[in-house]
Amino acid sequence: MSVYLVGAGPGDADLLTVRAVEILGRADVVVHDRLVGDDVLKLIRPRAARIDVGKKPGASSSQSGINELLIELAGRYDTVVRLKGGDPFIFGRGGEEAVALSRCGIEVHVVPGISSAFAAPLLAGITVTHRGASQGVCVVTATAEGGSAVDFEPLALANITLVVLMGVAQRSTISSQLRRGGLDPSTAVAVVESASRVGQRVTRARLDELATLDVYAPAVIVVGPVAALDLGVVTQLGDLVGAS
Ligand code: SAH
Repeated sequence: MSVYLVGAGPGDADLLTVRAVEILGRADVVVHDRLVGDDVLKLIRPRAARIDVGKKPGASSSQSGINELLIELAGRYDTVVRLKGGDPFIFGRGGEEAVALSRCGIEVHVVPGISSAFAAPLLAGITVTHRGASQGVCVVTATAEGGSAVDFEPLALANITLVVLMGVAQRSTISSQLRRGGLDPSTAVAVVESASRVGQRVTRARLDELATLDVYAPAVIVVGPVAALDLGVVTQLGDLVGAS
């Protein structure tokens, strides 16, 4: 009677942790999200039961229903796996599930996953921190608790890269609020769609063009000078931070 909260990474099964693969191979039941890749699902023990609790974007949340389901399954199976895209605790509501389970005396194990917040930029050739160009990275969701909007104006930070998850639908607001907060309209942005999956696509633009880009979820939006980088093109690094 243990529940494992397991990170599935950004999509490609090669980006799973060794521990995640081991637990998927001995699971009795796996409760997974919509964003978990098909190749990851193939690693689940064939006779394990599978329950898809994926929510469509914009659909109302049924987190309490998922918590109840996990509690019920923990009473019926030895090894229950809750498999979530990326890292289970980066906008994945893993914390709420852990608390609900622990309160019922259920043993909870966690397996960190590679978050799209860091993997998506890197797979697009963007290093979110870079000496001389970005001293830090701020990871935010554009959709706050209860579906309310996040205020991006105070997040217009010089020398700090902004990585926005769940931001595609709000890209016009993100762009205008960051400019109002003081970011230059020409600040580089990159939108990385479906990182590590078939269909991965990178769109680079300026902050004042973000609203008009033809981009689709799931995507990570990167804002800051590093968004213009492509590590495959080394000269661009030199341009950004000065030859050294
Ligand atoms: N726990 C997840 C994030 C869940 S929120 C993690 O750590 O990655 C869902 C958001 O994550 C999506 O709206 C999108 O912004 C981002 N996302 C997840 N997988 C992605 C992928 N393969 N490529 C780009 N963005 C992704």
